[in-house]
Amino acid sequence: MTGEQRRFRVLVTDEINPDGLDLLHQTPEIEVIEKPTRPLAEVIQEIASYDAMIGRSATRVSAELLEAGTNLKVIGRAGVGVDNVDLDKATELGIAVINAPGGNTVAVAELVFGVVISYLRHIHVAVSEMREGGWPRSKLGGTELRSRNLVIIGLGRIGGEVARRARAFGLRIGAYDPYVSANRFEELHVERYETLDEALQAADIVTLHVPLTNETSGMIGRRELGLLKASSMVLNYARGGIIDDDALLDALRNGSVGAAALDVFASEPLAKDHPFRQLPNVMLTPHLGASTVEAQRNVALEACAAVRDALLTGDLSAALNAVGVGGPELGEMRPLLQLAEKLGRLGQALLPSGLSGLELRYTGSRAEAARPLLLAALQGAMENVVDQRVNLVNAQHVADSRGIETAWTQVKPKKQGGEEIEILIDAGGRALRVGGTIIGDGYGLITRIGAYRVDVAPRGTLIVLRNRDVPGVIGRVGTIIGAAEVNIAEYHQARLQAGGEALAAIQVDSSVTTELLEQLCALPEVLDARQVRME
Ligand code: NAD
Repeated sequence: MTGEQRRFRVLVTDEINPDGLDLLHQTPEIEVIEKPTRPLAEVIQEIASYDAMIGRSATRVSAELLEAGTNLKVIGRAGVGVDNVDLDKATELGIAVINAPGGNTVAVAELVFGVVISYLRHIHVAVSEMREGGWPRSKLGGTELRSRNLVIIGLGRIGGEVARRARAFGLRIGAYDPYVSANRFEELHVERYETLDEALQAADIVTLHVPLTNETSGMIGRRELGLLKASSMVLNYARGGIIDDDALLDALRNGSVGAAALDVFASEPLAKDHPFRQLPNVMLTPHLGASTVEAQRNVALEACAAVRDALLTGDLSAALNAVGVGGPELGEMRPLLQLAEKLGRLGQALLPSGLSGLELRYTGSRAEAARPLLLAALQGAMENVVDQRVNLVNAQHVADSRGIETAWTQVKPKKQGGEEIEILIDAGGRALRVGGTIIGDGYGLITRIGAYRVDVAPRGTLIVLRNRDVPGVIGRVGTIIGAAEVNIAEYHQARLQAGGEALAAIQVDSSVTTELLEQLCALPEVLDARQVRME
């Protein structure tokens, strides 16, 4: 993308804040053509003459559009979600997709306080009754924020901004986020809860700022709501589906939770007759988190700057989908990259707490392989934890912004052949080493978990279990897994010495429930059992 003399043509397909567009207009190498809100068919017809396209969510960047864009190098989205972009097709075609994840952080954090204070002081009721001619002074005595326990679930960009503002209100602040380092808690002066249960039990106000992932979908269900104080208030300004709506409705109706404030819903727009609309102790907003002039300006600036840099300098550090290596080299390296990613995922799943460092050592004769392998391992270690797609291009950027230390080394093999990857994952001082190798026609194999030598293909679902090496344990574990109708594909047992501690890597054909893992942990000889999804 560098060194070209002609002007890059950028098509603007939605209404974008003018300050962002000015950034492009002021760049002599770029010609900006603004044609907002046109039918998709028209855009498809002329897209071939453009190098980049920038928009919001209104224009659907379909596979057909991408295929017609034979000169397209980058798609910019002035906002966070890229649901309107066929990301896989863009990747396949080598078109970078860039978004602007940081621009609306403050807007969400401010709305959280606006709504909570409005609820506690009945501002919304007072304003509406005053408009009707009333003077409802005596019935609208409120309560204060000061000294209440605020619990933040997810201490990322938005959670962090909520914490900063909460200090000014004199709230006591705690958070649950097992994936961020202890430093972040210290910097933000936030007490760290080790478990979600502990966090919920302490909360007067609990606010969710996690991404919607497999792990967080339904994370606040009936059991979790049951841990809250009857006077507590629950807020969801993250994504619909993180709270179980039916369970929340019941809890609000029967008084086991005091109030809720919701900006996001499992299905949007919220149904006209949804029961949430009738409850006096629920504050509803229509997904307004990012709807401020400033946030729209910030995301426009962020996206336009990233599109400009991608075109002018080839900087794809803000891209969601570009790969660090390309061409035939990428095909040859794919098995190694996949192994590194799976080792990262395995290491992350076995960590006792948040990832603070990841070091990769590659043994093999392939030139300059260690760096992309490190990125693949980081991708595996972070992809289920942060609210953005992590890939080879942006993995380093995401790690740096979270204070995760990274390093790689490349070692020449002593004898010909075999390529090996080892990663050392650090979680606030507690380190874990996992390793693997490539065998035969490019199949990856996990060969090391901690101190144990294993021999497991990284496929399907792995249950990694630490147990005391006593007679009969394999049978008892197998019986529990079998009773849950989960099929065991392979069972590998490794130990350091007879009668000591052992590690089992059990490959099963389907994912397993938390209850099954709890049943395994309840066996007296089992010390720990965790599930790692490898696909
Ligand atoms: P982020 O990636 O910066 O932070 C997410 C944090 O959640 C991370 O620190 C991560 O470690 C933590 N986390 C992940 N899984 C967790 C788990 N199982 N338990 C506890 N913590 C976990 O994301 P962000 O930019 O702060 O956004 C947070 C949420 O807000 C996202 O869901 C995003 O989609 C949503 N959002 C909503 C609006 C709106 O209009 N209401 C606007 C912007 C963002």
